[in-house]
Amino acid sequence: MAINNFEKIVFLGTGGTIAGTAASSADNIAYTAAQVGVNQLLDAVSGLSRVLGGRTLVTEQVAQIDSKDMSFAVWQQLALRVSHYLSQSDVKGIVITHGTDTLEETAFFLHAVLPASQVASKPVVLTCAMRPASSAAPDGPQNVMDAVAVAVTPGAHGVVAVCAGTLHGAVDVQKVHPYRLDAFNSGDAGPLGYVEEGAVRLVRNWPLAPVDIAQSAIENIASVTHWPRVEIVMSYAGASGAMVDALVSQGDAQRLDAAPVRGLVVAATGNGTVHHELQAALIRAQTAGVKVLLATRCASGRVLPTPGSVFPDSKGLSPVKARVALMLALLQ
Ligand code: ASP
Repeated sequence: MAINNFEKIVFLGTGGTIAGTAASSADNIAYTAAQVGVNQLLDAVSGLSRVLGGRTLVTEQVAQIDSKDMSFAVWQQLALRVSHYLSQSDVKGIVITHGTDTLEETAFFLHAVLPASQVASKPVVLTCAMRPASSAAPDGPQNVMDAVAVAVTPGAHGVVAVCAGTLHGAVDVQKVHPYRLDAFNSGDAGPLGYVEEGAVRLVRNWPLAPVDIAQSAIENIASVTHWPRVEIVMSYAGASGAMVDALVSQGDAQRLDAAPVRGLVVAATGNGTVHHELQAALIRAQTAGVKVLLATRCASGRVLPTPGSVFPDSKGLSPVKARVALMLALLQ
């Protein structure tokens, strides 16, 4: 295929371990995330120009954080910058370098808010690393190369994530290991494909269908100053309703961290079962106008609604993604 030399690949840096450094190159865990800027990070990727194949590289540091500290403000800024670049006809695709801890939430957020017209024909590829940039054997450079390989693949589109040679869709991707380089999987759905020596081998179709409960226009995102407060509660042996009652009774509308709770996602046991004390408190919350959504705390699978279910389910979304979806639904 002839390559248009004016095509651009945009790199947006947000921090994470991929941009982290430790005092010693032998240290892969006691490091500080988000120390190396996106340009310096890319300078260390020796095969980058080969995989770019003559395309122009554009870089921007959107944030520089450990993704455990991801905020609504960074999400807002990131979504707007991604949308800005996607709207440019010479941009072929976008790569976002991100921490692994909340990568799945950011991927889902972008999937939910970016206009279908923009992501239907262009890819937004999140990538990351489990070892810091200072490591004697870092995984970031290969992940960056693989992300570019995805971004330049004909037909690639939608929000996806690449880690350890595996390509995941935004709806299914989940961090499943705190240490291994191959730290992500896509649960029952399985990965979208693999990146092998610069070639993408798909085993599923590119993701397209947005999740209906999560739709929110990018224009609305730009103007949000107060995000609806949605918390996650978990059901477990000996659970009580105390946390839910406390959340519902508390609230200072001016402070996000203490604003009235508008939604509760339940990380329920099994197929959406909830300890009876917690269930009673959730019914009180629902009666008081709080939206309640059931997700399963199981690592795979989804809640299958049963006749007489008291609460709606998350339509297969994990608790953290269901929270994003509910926040966006409450924005409407
Ligand atoms: N705490 C880091 C982060 O999420 C972990 C990582 O990137 O692997 O930014």
